[in-house]
Order: sequence, then structure tokens, then C-alpha cells
Amino acid sequence: MTMLIETAVEGYRFVCGSCGHTWMADYDIQYVSDDVGATFGFYRLDGVPVPAPTAGDIPCTNCGAVGVAMIPEGRCEAPPRG
Ligand SMILES: [Zn+2]
Repeated sequence: MTMLIETAVEGYRFVCGSCGHTWMADYDIQYVSDDVGATFGFYRLDGVPVPAPTAGDIPCTNCGAVGVAMIPEGRCEAPPRG
């Protein structure tokens, strides 16, 4: 049985080492823990499950090369301001 710990939105910047193209993506992430206390993150982009950006095999959206550097930009939630 798994238990949802939290959900988050985290932004990542990607830089292609081949063509220099940069882009950003905001991932919806669900962190869950399993029976033995291990924690997993399930990543989605626009509601579609995707591999974690940290998996390291993200292809460049411009030239298709693999070998893209991933830079965490932190969580995107801004505190509501009135
Ligand atoms: Zn590229």
C-alpha cells in the first residue's frame, strides 16, 4: 500500500549540450511512500505521466540530441498575496 505524502509543482530548466537550446518545464509531482518507507516521485507534464527529469535521458526539443543538462528551478508555488 502506498501513501501520498505531498504534491508539488517544480520547474526545471534544460540546456542542450549539442545545440545550446534551452527550455523550461513545470512538472506536477506526487510524492508517495511505500510499505518500507521508500519515497517515490511521480512526474506529470500537462497531466501526462512522464519519466523523472532526473532520469537523464531527456531529448532536446530542438535537435533531438540526448545529453541535456537539467537545472532545478525550484518549486513554483507562490504564496497567495492579496
Ligand atoms: Zn539540441
